[in-house]
Amino acid sequence: MEHVAQRILNLSESETLAMTRRSRELTAQGIDIINLSIGEPDFNTPEPIKEAAIRAIHDNKTHYPPVPGYPELRKAICHKLKRDNNLDFTPEQIVVSTGAKHSIANVIISLVNAGEEVILPAPYWVSYKEMVKLARGIAVFVPASVDTDFKITPEQLEAAITPKTKVILYSSPCNPTGSVYSRDELQALAEVVARHPNIFVISDEIYELINFDCHHESIAQFDFIRDRVIVINGVSKGFAMTGWRLGYLAAPLWIAKACDKLQGQMTSATCSISQYAAIEAMMTDPDKSPDIRDMIFTFRKRRNRMLEMLQTIPGLITNVPKGAFYYFPDVTYYFGKHYGETEIKNACDLANYLLDVGHVAVVPGDAFGNPDCIRISYASSMELLTEAIGRIKTALAALK
Ligand code: PMP
Repeated sequence: MEHVAQRILNLSESETLAMTRRSRELTAQGIDIINLSIGEPDFNTPEPIKEAAIRAIHDNKTHYPPVPGYPELRKAICHKLKRDNNLDFTPEQIVVSTGAKHSIANVIISLVNAGEEVILPAPYWVSYKEMVKLARGIAVFVPASVDTDFKITPEQLEAAITPKTKVILYSSPCNPTGSVYSRDELQALAEVVARHPNIFVISDEIYELINFDCHHESIAQFDFIRDRVIVINGVSKGFAMTGWRLGYLAAPLWIAKACDKLQGQMTSATCSISQYAAIEAMMTDPDKSPDIRDMIFTFRKRRNRMLEMLQTIPGLITNVPKGAFYYFPDVTYYFGKHYGETEIKNACDLANYLLDVGHVAVVPGDAFGNPDCIRISYASSMELLTEAIGRIKTALAALK
C-alpha cells in the first residue's frame, strides 16, 4: 500500500459491495446466507433488448463509437426524455457513459473545484461522497430522518448553502430510503436554488421507473433553473440491465461538452453492443411494456408485503418507500442490547450480527450517511424475503 496515491488511500471501500463480498464468502463456506444487500433487480433483461444487442453483434457494430454515444442512441434518449418527462433536450446535450455511476462521476469532476461544496441530502447513495472527495470537493450533509420520510425541507437546503456551494446532488426515488420527492416538494427546492445563481443540481433519476404510487417528477421541469440542472439516468434499474453498464446525462450544452472531453481522455464511449441494446430500451414505452409493468407490479407487491412483515418486528421504525427496492428502518431500539457478552453498539454491529447469527446480509446505514438505520433490499423472491424477515425477527428477538 505504501506507494498507493493519497487520493486512493483517502477513498472508502463501497460498503454495499463489501457486504455482498462477505456474504459471498460465507456462502462459499457452505453457510446458507440470504443476501438482501444487493442493489440490482432480480429480473432478466427483456428479450427485445437482448435481441437488439445480438443484431448489433451480427451487424458488426463492434468498432469504437463516438465518445458521447452513437447519435441514434442520443436521439432515442431525447425521445424518451420528451415522452416520459416532457423535457426538451437535443442530442448534443446527452453524454452516454459506462453506467449512471460514471455519468455522475463525469459531472462532479467536470464541475467541482478543490474546496467547493457539494450538498448531499442524507441518507445519500454511497458513491456520491467518495466522488466528491476524488474531485477534492467538500461534501456537506443535510440530514433527514424517518420522521420526514427522509426528505429535506427548503429551509434546510437554504441553511446549508454558503458562498462555496457548487452543487446539490440527490436521488429521487432514493437509494437507500425509497423516498420520492413530489412535484411540489421539488418546486420548493428549485425556488431555493433559483435564489443562488451559481449552484447546480445533479438529479439522479436512475430509479425513475421503480416508482409505485405516483408519476415520476424531475426537477429539470422547472424552467427557471433549467439551465442549471443535470439529469442522470440509465438502463440498469428500470430495464434490469445492470451488467450492460450504460447510463447517461442530459445537461446544459457546456456541461455535456466538458463531460465529453473528460470521457474522451478516460474511458471513451461505452460498449457499442450495450448502446444498441439501450436504443431499444429508450424506444420502449414503459407504460406499454409487459416486461417492465410486470417487474414494477412485482416490486410493489413485495414492498407492501415487506411492510406487513417488518411491522411485526418490535422496535423497527420505517417509512413507506414509494420507489426503488429498499427499506431503510431505524434500528436504534436494538442499540445497547447484547448477544452473550457482545454489545450491539451501532448499525454496523447489528448488520454483522444479522449476517453471522441470522444469516441475512443487509447494509449498515453508515454507508449512506445515517448510522441509525440498516438497508434491506427486496430485490429477491417473495419466498426468500419471507424466510429472511423471519430470520431477522428471530435474531433480533434473541438480543437482550
Ligand atoms: N445512482 C443510484 C442512486 C444507484 O443506486 C445506482 C446503482 N446502485 C447508480 C446511480 C448507478 O447505476 P449504474 O448501474 O447505472 O451505474
